[in-house]
Amino acid sequence: MGKLAIFPGSFDPVTNGHIDMIRRATRIFSKVIVAVANNTSKKPMFTSAERLKMLKECTKDIEGIEVEAFDGLVIEFARKKQDNVLIRGLRMISDFEYELQMALTNRRLDESIETLFLMPSEGYSFLSSTLLKEATSLGANISSFVPKSVEKELKQRLLK
Ligand code: ADP
Repeated sequence: MGKLAIFPGSFDPVTNGHIDMIRRATRIFSKVIVAVANNTSKKPMFTSAERLKMLKECTKDIEGIEVEAFDGLVIEFARKKQDNVLIRGLRMISDFEYELQMALTNRRLDESIETLFLMPSEGYSFLSSTLLKEATSLGANISSFVPKSVEKELKQRLLK
């Protein structure tokens, strides 16, 4: 069983795809820190505190994880945790270019950092927080894509 890994992201909001990834990661690593980026360039809809709270709620039954927020560079966060493994998800080929660029940049910034890619269950391979928000605002049934508590938050925020 490997040691510690960090799964960083914006989680705006957490989806069943993220949860699938977290579960997979906990089968490989004895501890997984799910790290919520405070200063994401994506202009999140939910505050970092809200994203953190939703993630904690939806993952409370998963053993071996911690959910934390972080500011700044993920490699700095990893250093603080004395960890050198980052986990990222690859859904489609379209994720690949951006993810490769980021993994290589992080490696250039810190040679000891390794990024591991996991593939979600194919049922979630098309799912993104961005699409989810769009679908919710158009009135789609999103119940199979997110936990109940997140569905409620999304509807409250987007369907007035
Ligand atoms: P970021 O802004 O850092 O990309 P996201 O919350 O969009 O944050 O994604 C965090 C991580 O979760 C990324 O590695 C992304 O590829 C992965 N991810 C997002 N949605 C899914 C999904 N449906 N299945 C698997 N991995 C996913």
